[in-house]
Amino acid sequence: MIRNVEVLVVGGGPAGLCAAQAAASMGAKVTMLERDYVPGGQLVKQTHKFFGSEKQHAGERGFQIGRMLLDEIQADPNIEILPETTALGCYEDGVITALQGDKHLKFRPERTILATGAAEKFLAFPGNDLPGVYGAGAVQTLMNVAGVKPAQRVLMVGSGNIGLIVSYQLKQAGVEVAGVVEAAPRIGGYLVHAAKIRRAGIPILTGWTVKEAFGKEQVEGAVICQLDDKFQQIPGTEKTIACDAICLAVGLTPLTELCWQAGCEMKYIRELSGHVPVVSDDLETTKAGIYAAGDVTGIEEASSAMVEGKIAGYSAAASLGHSPEEAARLRQEAMEELRQLRSGPTGGKINAGIEKVKQDGGVVHVNLYRYSH
Ligand SMILES: Cc1cc2nc3c(=O)[nH]c(=O)nc-3n(C[C@H](O)[C@H](O)[C@H](O)COP(=O)(O)OP(=O)(O)OC[C@H]3O[C@@H](n4cnc5c(N)ncnc54)[C@H](O)[C@@H]3O)c2cc1C
Repeated sequence: MIRNVEVLVVGGGPAGLCAAQAAASMGAKVTMLERDYVPGGQLVKQTHKFFGSEKQHAGERGFQIGRMLLDEIQADPNIEILPETTALGCYEDGVITALQGDKHLKFRPERTILATGAAEKFLAFPGNDLPGVYGAGAVQTLMNVAGVKPAQRVLMVGSGNIGLIVSYQLKQAGVEVAGVVEAAPRIGGYLVHAAKIRRAGIPILTGWTVKEAFGKEQVEGAVICQLDDKFQQIPGTEKTIACDAICLAVGLTPLTELCWQAGCEMKYIRELSGHVPVVSDDLETTKAGIYAAGDVTGIEEASSAMVEGKIAGYSAAASLGHSPEEAARLRQEAMEELRQLRSGPTGGKINAGIEKVKQDGGVVHVNLYRYSH
């Protein structure tokens, strides 16, 4: 049986939670699908205090922000949350299929907001399939959600904010961090995070990479080596590091399968970390009625994901005729918030990426929801 819903939000991270709240606050009926058992997305495992602006709860710890957003929407009778429900398919006629346990669900939404976030990138090197080679997200989930110490001694690969923050959290959990290797000539993350790592006695080696992992049943160590200015390994510089885990924090890429399936126009934009859907200022994709918000439109931060969620939520509600004037006013306010967030030092790359998305003309909508347009 197909369920008709007004607004379907796929993904319950900061973007999806804010999208649901915004659309419902205008009077729309919202159903939110989240594949995890609790909504919150990346926020659930972030134990550190977030930067950003006060409006996006800067100064609070990530998991507390997730809890606040969830509390707000759980109290809203216009929002139905379906946890442990994974959207599997987005079909040409607008139908979205999902799996909940062993139940196969079908939805026909009038508007869809895709807020599926991002996936971790991996690295190719001999031994990368040994148990003990983790993505940083898995390490955080083990430590901060499940309360499991992932290893005794870890080599961290990548000095972006995620690599630096997770190194510090490993140290807090009583895990020794042998060092952080970074292929680029400079540290990628904020210097405030790098300074904490260095004060904790963890070396950060720039211009180095992991060459291989070794071990019989699981990781017993790693060979690292230096890179030249063309990122080629320099023979003779190899060093062996004893460790029982290698943690890869080498970036995220937008999780866009549903956008591809829906037939949204996609573009590869390096500054946004991968293929992203082409969206209008309202965050509507080239498929009319399908919006995208948060990391799925380009890897950024929780603060901007929340604001993008609001923009998509207000836009979707207004397009269905819910409080269009009020929704337009609030969407305008959110757009200004986003502009301010992106006016900081890290906004340059994102703004350049967004400009590239907009090149070659604007968004031409394809009428997917024939019954509602
Ligand atoms: C270690 C680390 C530190 C960070 N620190 C900061 C910081 O200090 N400040 C800051 O602003 N940001 C920070 N961020 C970034 C921030 O967490 C992300 O930018 C933000 O969570 C993106 O929000 P999102 O809602 O787009 O995606 P996510 O938070 O990834 O949420 C996506 C959700 O969609 C769900 N989902 C995906 N596919 C499906 C599907 N098919 N069906 C159903 N559900 C699905 C996922 O389970 C997930 O819950 C950090 C991230 C990490 C990893």
